[in-house]
Amino acid sequence: MTEIIAIANQKGGVGKTTTAVNLSAALAIEGKRVLLIDADPQANATTSLGFHRDTYEYNIYHVMLGTKELNEIILDSEIENLKVAPSNIGLVGIEKEFYKNTKERELVLKRKIDPIKKDFDYIIIDSPPALGPITINTLSASNSVLIPIQCEFFALEGLAQLLSTIKLVKQTINKGLLIRGFLPTMYSSQNNLSKQVFADLAQHFENKLFKIDESSYVVIPRNIKLAESPSFGKPIMLYDASASGTKAYTNLARAITA
Ligand code: ADP
Ligand code: MG
Repeated sequence: MTEIIAIANQKGGVGKTTTAVNLSAALAIEGKRVLLIDADPQANATTSLGFHRDTYEYNIYHVMLGTKELNEIILDSEIENLKVAPSNIGLVGIEKEFYKNTKERELVLKRKIDPIKKDFDYIIIDSPPALGPITINTLSASNSVLIPIQCEFFALEGLAQLLSTIKLVKQTINKGLLIRGFLPTMYSSQNNLSKQVFADLAQHFENKLFKIDESSYVVIPRNIKLAESPSFGKPIMLYDASASGTKAYTNLARAITA
């Protein structure tokens, strides 16, 4: 069975792309067959894995437009079991195309994933920082959604809006959609605010935190290596195997495959 997970939160800078890239890499290193779909026009997941505009011709825009199939755009990454469906700034144009009378536009991405999903154990989809048509597509195509929460001031602001969008998608387009979990990101143990955000999450969503074991949770620490590795075109595991970020994302992958 293939599990399809959307990484979503309409706030920018909360760790969606970092999570999409490093969770995908960690799952692949654990031996799973993984496809990372970059569905953000900013294409940060694509560049984080070392692909640049001139290293691929077609991207997820062409797939969502209907002129290419996913298997025609998928790239091999440096990690054996990890493949990438790249994005490009041109994807911003898809919203305009959708308004030109695209039938069932919420299901465009799902229809493109269906024929190739048997080739993968996990499909991870990075979403843009908005609750617009692209995110509706990523939620509609997925079994579940993983929500990174930055352990900073205003962390839970906007969460109600995200949860009501998920509920709406669940009621209308994708009845099986689950919340896979909340992932505290950029946690800093010296920062009282970080502790407060984690305590709030644990209080409201204890059963939706990822667990390492009976008594500890997966928390992504603030780790400079996680911010550096994209500029080397590598996931954290290949950039610094001993970094705290490597350990945290490996724990997340293990919690998900457990
Ligand atoms: P989003 O995709 O939600 O906009 P990103 O994953 O791009 O967020 O993260 C925003 C910025 O924070 C990026 O520069 C990224 O490298 C950095 N970052 C993300 N997670 C961490 C972390 N755990 N520690 C340090 N820096 C991080
Ligand atoms: Mg991003």
